Amino acid sequence: MKILLQFPEGLKEKALTYAKEEEAKGNEVYVSASPSFGACDLALDEAKMIGAEKLVHFGHAEFHHVDFNVEYREFAVDADLDILEESVDALKDYNKIGIVTTIQHIHQLQYVKEFYEKNGKTVVIGKPYGFAKKPGQILGCDIGSAARIDNEVDAFVYFGGGMFHPLGALLNTKKPFLVVEPFTRKVEFIDQYREIYRKRKNGKIARALSARSFGIVVSTKNGQHNMNLAGLLKSRIEAKGLRAAILTANTINFESLDNMREFDAFVNTACPRISIDDITRTRKPMLSANELNEVLEMLSIQTLSK
Ligand code: SF4
Repeated sequence: MKILLQFPEGLKEKALTYAKEEEAKGNEVYVSASPSFGACDLALDEAKMIGAEKLVHFGHAEFHHVDFNVEYREFAVDADLDILEESVDALKDYNKIGIVTTIQHIHQLQYVKEFYEKNGKTVVIGKPYGFAKKPGQILGCDIGSAARIDNEVDAFVYFGGGMFHPLGALLNTKKPFLVVEPFTRKVEFIDQYREIYRKRKNGKIARALSARSFGIVVSTKNGQHNMNLAGLLKSRIEAKGLRAAILTANTINFESLDNMREFDAFVNTACPRISIDDITRTRKPMLSANELNEVLEMLSIQTLSK
């Protein structure tokens, strides 16, 4: 079978090994060298262009159904669980905790739950909104496993690598949030980032209030494409007497956005994390759809009060 292999950045170093394994099974194998950000970003165009019969996507679970033969190969990582011992003292003031992790460690979540229960905690595991599929799993764009149980728990524990995933959950919850990072062996509360990101957001909105022209960014990635939202936002902007155009891209290039100097601000309809994590990568404010609505409402109030 003619197949295209697609790896996230962290697994690309093993691309040749996997390609040879697939060839040994009798497949005609190609490897996508494009960046890959998640199962929202399947290399469908590449697969179709080269006439592949199947796309093998490594490292992520299914995001949503697509009309192509895709095999998802999740990649379980056995992280060192001894690190949990170091979190017990940090959690001494909290009885009921919510635990979350990424797809790479979801198979270890039951152990994490039992560990805290043995240490006298009541443990709650929430359910994702839908892009993530497993209880307790979070994605950068699906933090339902944390947000849905925010009112029930005293604190959260994220077990897993990096800050990308817990940051999204942190910004959508209110309870103390402990990161237990088995790779760097850090155990730390990250609550201070709520205030840092709130200030960043307010600064961005303040700058966008003087914008007269908006570029609305639409991604052509399968799981990030939202042309309906972009059309709606364009109408809302134009209804205020401001100018807007819809911009399409696969992977957003921030330099290219900066080259479009006629736009005073951008609105992101693609991966929601772009308007949180990447806002310093453009000179102009990069708003989410909700932030644009806040800007337009503030402009209405300003007009009425004149
Ligand atoms: S956070 Fe962004 S990159 Fe990650 S799965 Fe969601 S849409 Fe894709």
